[in-house]
Amino acid sequence: MSTALKAPTYLNYINGEWSASASGETAASISPANRNETVGYVQVSTAQDLDHAVQSAKQAHKAWRKLAGSARGDFLYKAASAMEKRLDEIAETMTREMGKTLPEAKGETARGIAILRYYAGEGMRKIGDVIPSTDSEALMFTTRVPLGVVGVISPWNFPVAIPIWKMAPALIYGNTVVLKPAQETAVTAAKVIECFVEAGFPAGVVNMVTGKGSVIGQGLAEHPDVNGITFTGSNQVGKQVGQAALARGAKYQLEMGGKNPVIIAADADLDLAVEGTISGGLRSTGQKCTATSRVIVQSAVYDEFKQKLLDKVQSITVGDGLQGESWMGPCANENQLQTVMSYIQKGIDEGAELLHGGNRPDDAGLADGFYVTPTVFDNVKPSMTIAQEEIFGPVLALIKVDTLEQAIEIANDVDFGLSASIYTSSISNLLSFIEDMEAGLVRVNAETAGVELQAPFGGMKQSSSHSREQGQAAIEFFTSIKTVFVKS
Ligand code: NAD
Repeated sequence: MSTALKAPTYLNYINGEWSASASGETAASISPANRNETVGYVQVSTAQDLDHAVQSAKQAHKAWRKLAGSARGDFLYKAASAMEKRLDEIAETMTREMGKTLPEAKGETARGIAILRYYAGEGMRKIGDVIPSTDSEALMFTTRVPLGVVGVISPWNFPVAIPIWKMAPALIYGNTVVLKPAQETAVTAAKVIECFVEAGFPAGVVNMVTGKGSVIGQGLAEHPDVNGITFTGSNQVGKQVGQAALARGAKYQLEMGGKNPVIIAADADLDLAVEGTISGGLRSTGQKCTATSRVIVQSAVYDEFKQKLLDKVQSITVGDGLQGESWMGPCANENQLQTVMSYIQKGIDEGAELLHGGNRPDDAGLADGFYVTPTVFDNVKPSMTIAQEEIFGPVLALIKVDTLEQAIEIANDVDFGLSASIYTSSISNLLSFIEDMEAGLVRVNAETAGVELQAPFGGMKQSSSHSREQGQAAIEFFTSIKTVFVKS
């Protein structure tokens, strides 16, 4: 019997029940480490399935919004405990389904659990302020109310953490949720939802509908009963989602691409800088929105940094993320591999010097996976395509500059502004960087890809719709302020 026949089928979760799509159609979710391995079959849902989920969420919202925040928090605590019991299994599914290494997948799952607990606690924190009225007989204060039904559209690169960092704040502040996960990682999403089911959320509070982005994602953005849309994914799709939500007056939040720079100043600790560049640029096969992509190095230390970087990159082992010896797994899907390979070709065509990698690994055991070697380009000009567009793969572009001012100017000269970091030992360098860098996350002597769940997360320019996720900042999107005036 082939593995494909043994792979389980996963259902939608609507109104407290697991159900097959009205279409009767499923799609195979395959492993990027081996295209012949099917991880599971997921529903290819219809607009009718989506409408059922939205109506269930709308109905459930009436009672959910009336619960005390602490009572809503209890459900999140239970979901966290359910997930903790299944951490290894969920992480392994993630690795099989999208390729990141098992330690990274375990770290992400643990992050998901921590986010649930963080927002469970938010259910008991303040949601308003008293504002002195000019009328001495009046009491004026603000409170916050949920939006209603929130549509969550998530990408494949963080299939546990991203849906949770959207669903947990949505739920704690009294919204109900319809999740449309990336179809490529819908099995992992189903396992996350199983933990919510085990937590005993009332029917209709949490729903999941899988399917094509153009049907279910777009359908959520356009649905008249969806009051808020929170999206993470590509710029192209994000803009469409934002336009659809705007057209009908729904609230929207878009987290999109990045082209994140690291600046290596002449006074940097070069070993630390190499470590941060490699971890920031190549972990998760470069498929993080905060991944380091441009490496802008002062000429005084350029050659030394380049050699140290090359020494480390050469020792990276590429392979199936389930195997302990693999430092870097495959690209998450075939499209992504093709995109990365075409950017590498563009880099060569436009005259950048391929210093390392740029090809598929020649190990025959990896031939059926979507692998690419870690890639470093030298002599990259800031205007080249590989220095301007998001690649979302393990490709580092080295850019040489003379001064720190030039470095910051080049770092800012892209359409994106998500994350940026600098390695330096000088206070004046780091202060200029913090002041002048156009990015939502600005990091000193730390890699671009670090994110802490309790701090605001989001970008400037085309990286985001300028709202912030995570931490207490999330309340801004998931609620509306009501200003209350009471006269005695
Ligand atoms: P994508 O835009 O292709 O898909 C994201 C989600 O949108 C998926 O669920 C997809 O099914 C859905 N979708 C597709 N077409 C749609 C449509 N017409 N209408 C509504 N929804 C639709 O992105 P991806 O390839 O899954 O993820 C990679 C991208 O995500 C990268 O650009 C990366 O930078 C970005 N990303 C950003 C952040 C961030 O927080 N800024 C985090 C992770 C990933």
